[in-house]
Amino acid sequence: MECPNCSEKLEVHRMCRRVRMRCTGCKKEYHIHEVADQLDDETEEKLSMYTSIIYD
Ligand SMILES: [Zn+2]
Repeated sequence: MECPNCSEKLEVHRMCRRVRMRCTGCKKEYHIHEVADQLDDETEEKLSMYTSIIYD
C-alpha cells in the first residue's frame, strides 16, 4: 500500500505492543485506523499476525 503523503511504500512497523504503518520514503508513521480504509491484502495478512497487539 502507498503512503498518502508521498506515494512511497508503507511497511508494517512493530513497536513493543503497538503497530504502525511506516513510510519507506518520508518516514511518516500512521496509526492503523488512519489507513484502515486503504489496507490491501498483503498488509492485512501481515497485520493478522499481530492479533494480540492493541491498535490504539
Ligand atoms: Zn511517505
